[in-house]
Amino acid sequence: MTLVPGKIVCVGRNYAAHAAEMGVERPVEPILFFKPPTALLDGGGVVTLPSWSDDVHHEVELVVRIGAEGRDITASDAHRFVDGWGVGVDLTARDVQTRAKELGHPWAVAKGFDGSAPVSDLLPVTSLDRLSDMVLELAVSGEIRQQGSTSAMLWTVRELVAFASSRFTLARGDLLFTGTPEGVGPVVAGDRLVATVAEARLEVTIAP
Ligand code: ZN
Repeated sequence: MTLVPGKIVCVGRNYAAHAAEMGVERPVEPILFFKPPTALLDGGGVVTLPSWSDDVHHEVELVVRIGAEGRDITASDAHRFVDGWGVGVDLTARDVQTRAKELGHPWAVAKGFDGSAPVSDLLPVTSLDRLSDMVLELAVSGEIRQQGSTSAMLWTVRELVAFASSRFTLARGDLLFTGTPEGVGPVVAGDRLVATVAEARLEVTIAP
């Protein structure tokens, strides 16, 4: 990644089947949260699990990069503001997140630890609409745990860019994690994750 992101914008519950497995309502508008730039593990590699969580989950996601600064971008204009795509894993300290939800606290700690945002090398965007029909897959040590299609997203990349930019400026280099399909589950030390979205591929090893 030649650009260091100023922010990593993430979307919660963008697949109905994942909202259902979490036992939560389908949202009425996109649920956005941030990871800090220090969460990025560019190109994949080794992630050390945080000592303060006993239940870190994998969430395979389509990731796009913002190529030009914009605010109040319309969905029909969004292709002018997205210049790269790839696959990422939104690593989540689920036990910490569950406690935060119960207490009405933010998700920053559960979602923002170092290495919690591994992202593959990015590919150039030729057509934003192609991103709306791609297969996502995540295997843990050779076993497929998550499989889905971006066609099941509640909000498309175009709609997410429009919504996010209606709330804050999107800057060149920002990354957008677009949500995970069902099948999330724990990772443990020694696991080897292979995440793919179409031809984008990411490998992550969980430090023993
Ligand atoms: Zn996620």
